[in-house]
Amino acid sequence: MSFDLFTTAEEHEELRDAVRAVAEDKIAPHAAAADENSAFPQEAYDALRATDFHAPHIAEEYEGVGADALATCIVIEEVARACGSSSLIPAVNKLGTMPLILGASEEVKRRYLPEVARGEAMFSYGLSEREAGSDTASMRTQAVRDGDSWVVNGQKSWITNAGVSKYYTVMAVTDPEGKRGSNVTAFVLHEDDPGFTLGEPERKLGIKGSPTRELFFDDVRIPDERRASGVGEGLKIALRTLDHTRVTIGAQAVGIAQGALDAAVAYVKERKQFGKAVAEFQGVQFMLADMAMKLESARQMVYAAAAKSERGDADLPFFGAAAKCQASDAAMEITTDAVQLLGGAGYVKDFPVERMMRDAKITQIYEGTNQIQRMVMARQLLK
Ligand SMILES: Cc1cc2nc3c(=O)[nH]c(=O)nc-3n(C[C@H](O)[C@H](O)[C@H](O)COP(=O)(O)OP(=O)(O)OC[C@H]3O[C@@H](n4cnc5c(N)ncnc54)[C@H](O)[C@@H]3O)c2cc1C
Repeated sequence: MSFDLFTTAEEHEELRDAVRAVAEDKIAPHAAAADENSAFPQEAYDALRATDFHAPHIAEEYEGVGADALATCIVIEEVARACGSSSLIPAVNKLGTMPLILGASEEVKRRYLPEVARGEAMFSYGLSEREAGSDTASMRTQAVRDGDSWVVNGQKSWITNAGVSKYYTVMAVTDPEGKRGSNVTAFVLHEDDPGFTLGEPERKLGIKGSPTRELFFDDVRIPDERRASGVGEGLKIALRTLDHTRVTIGAQAVGIAQGALDAAVAYVKERKQFGKAVAEFQGVQFMLADMAMKLESARQMVYAAAAKSERGDADLPFFGAAAKCQASDAAMEITTDAVQLLGGAGYVKDFPVERMMRDAKITQIYEGTNQIQRMVMARQLLK
């Protein structure tokens, strides 16, 4: 597929229709229950696998469908419009495998990517630690070389889809005396590696259907063939990964916001007060117009960043950060306004907008808080 900055190609719009049909038919009906019960949306995973939307970014040479960056964003956006938690299935499969795509040997790619493409395994991404969130280079998890193996000790925090993923890309310090940022290496851990255990699922504000857990490593021995980056290249690969995947978080935010706007438009046309539909009041119309305006500018920014991700443009770090930051801030405002437009009905669980407001909040925090995005943008401006 080819695309430029200002239009989506016909194939992209056909893709949107196809994902929307799956999302409305098979994912939306389970979204409230996944949230209410903090349960992984297995129905969504099954529906996404059946239609090849679970990990669309994987290239055809690794048995994937080879969707470009914009197509992958459209898949995530349309799933998020129905269910934020479910959109983390394609999003985190990309996040977990992107370090391999960018930094691993051909053998490692061939070993893992086809299994994900076939829908037989999911991948998580382990960068953050309790004491190393925004300051990733201060991580303490270590891997010590022992012959042809590495022995990993430490922990990772807030890992999305932990417990449902089979594989984990984990960044660990391999040279404690080495230069900060150049002393980290990426490895693939397996769910059944001896010494690898998980913490209890976190109890969260939103995206409750996507499990978030700690990872613990107690003398986990892994062969060197499971190294996912050059020795000392792990943090650079992890951060380059985020340049690409922040665009997908922007897409998730756009999708959640679109879901809330659609629900608000439908409601204000039906709801009557003072003898007419509340949609007839200019105060309500101005709110809707502002919501749609913010949403569309966020979408355009995400799509422009997706084009840059696909081409590997030099200014992708700026655009990835800007897209994620702008779209997540817009999603927070739009979902909050959607709750407002539904009045009391917006505040209760009979309608989806309160869930969408809670789900939107995380997009301002993960893959780097929006303060960190502004640091990334400023760094590119000032260099
Ligand atoms: C639900 C969920 C899922 C997640 N999934 C994953 C995952 O799959 N993999 C993974 O590796 N991580 C994951 N994370 C971790 C997430 O990326 C971090 O929480 C995030 O990067 C922030 O780190 P922190 O929580 O330690 O906040 P801190 O770094 O402690 O920040 C606290 C506050 O200080 C601000 N701050 C920090 N430094 C600066 C600065 N220099 N200038 C200005 N402000 C600053 C921050 O913006 C924030 O407001 C997840 C988190 C959550 C909650």
